[in-house]
Amino acid sequence: MRRKAIYPGSFDPITNGHLDVIERAARLFDEVIVAVAENQNKKSLFTIEERIHLANQATRHVANVQIDQFQGLLVDYVAQRKGHAIVRGLRAVSDFEFEFQLALMNRRLKEEIETIFMMPKDRYTFLSSSIVKEIASLGGSIDGLVPPNVHTALHQRFLQATPSNPT
Ligand code: ADP
Repeated sequence: MRRKAIYPGSFDPITNGHLDVIERAARLFDEVIVAVAENQNKKSLFTIEERIHLANQATRHVANVQIDQFQGLLVDYVAQRKGHAIVRGLRAVSDFEFEFQLALMNRRLKEEIETIFMMPKDRYTFLSSSIVKEIASLGGSIDGLVPPNVHTALHQRFLQATPSNPT
């Protein structure tokens, strides 16, 4: 049987922390589906199409990974894709409480789906999409924190957003 893992998230945008988790999961499972959430209530910087495109480009080097999108209940999506496990990343103790709650709720909804937690390299434990967006919007360096295509996309997004200097 081919073991299939689903790695859900907003990926707004995908970072090197996400990539680290994806590469680890790809070594453990036959197939990894990165499921980009289409959440109407959460305001994102990149559209769902852009987030998928950036994730596709950034994961080209990993053969057994595909990018998809989902909305609604995660366990329903996992069942529909015939996934065996949900992969989530754990950066610090601060992630634990929310992730623990989510994993147990998902188990309550669908007993047979296991949640697996993966820890990234320590250099990515402080990294989140939100912090990357904030640093990039303020003109700080995000070198080494995101894949090159995301670096370019963020740079373009914030250059466009900056009003030209009226002098
Ligand atoms: P974020 O919290 O960065 O906005 P997502 O909603 O896209 O990210 O997160 C999807 C999953 O990836 C979550 O389980 C989250 O804990 C995990 N994750 C996010 N950033 C990292 C990182 N730097 N290292 C490991 N896991 C991460």
